[in-house]
Amino acid sequence: MIIYYFKKLHNFILDTLFPIHCLYCQKYGAWVCSECAKKISLLSVQVCPYCEKTISPNGRICPLCKNKFLEKNESWPLDALVVSTKYENVSRLVHCFKYNFIQNLGESLAKIICQALISHNLTLPDYIIPIPLHSRRLRWRGFNQSEVLAQYISQNLTPGFSIAILSKLLIRKKYTPAQMKIKNYQERQKNVRDIFGLNCNVETQNFASLHNKTILLIDDVATTGATLFECAKILKSAGAKKVFAVVIARQEIRKKLL
Ligand SMILES: [Zn+2]
Ligand SMILES: [Zn+2]
Repeated sequence: MIIYYFKKLHNFILDTLFPIHCLYCQKYGAWVCSECAKKISLLSVQVCPYCEKTISPNGRICPLCKNKFLEKNESWPLDALVVSTKYENVSRLVHCFKYNFIQNLGESLAKIICQALISHNLTLPDYIIPIPLHSRRLRWRGFNQSEVLAQYISQNLTPGFSIAILSKLLIRKKYTPAQMKIKNYQERQKNVRDIFGLNCNVETQNFASLHNKTILLIDDVATTGATLFECAKILKSAGAKKVFAVVIARQEIRKKLL
């Protein structure tokens, strides 16, 4: 009850001090007005999610990168990564969503993701899995931004049909520094290695349901893709047939070392 009133008060203060206005043109009424929303263009082509250079249908790994993994006796677990738009098109929205805690922005961002998914014609997923936050970060933000996106996508990707969300299956076991602060690619890989796992408290029936299923992973922004890579690896080893991922945008890292 106290939390309910606290949230009401928090929203009241937010609405009074920062009345809802379009973050692009300042017009009052919505965080992104319909005219500005139309101007956010989707990416016309997708690239290989590993080298980020070769143009690749639906964001599948390119043959050259695929071979690099095979040479190491590994396989790339992510069947496709769809990047919805350029980071600079949405950087302000993403920042306000995550760091100014404007949860309502999730809908505008999730709409962009839905449009991107529809334009790519990927197999419809059996389940949607948002990238989990560590409980400490979840307490700090008050919501998991990927889960907010997942909820909208689950209801709106196919009209009249909702896709089940498995939000408790993957867990973030360790609290790690925010990826934003780590600039080096190899450091990022180290940072996410072994930090995700399957939630042992989830009923076995839920684990079994992954078998032979197509999963759609949702994250807000990808950088190297290391987080998505780790999560896809876990889901594949738990029996998933296909793991696709979608993000709003991808942030460039200049020091990426391949
Ligand atoms: Zn506007
Ligand atoms: Zn490649």
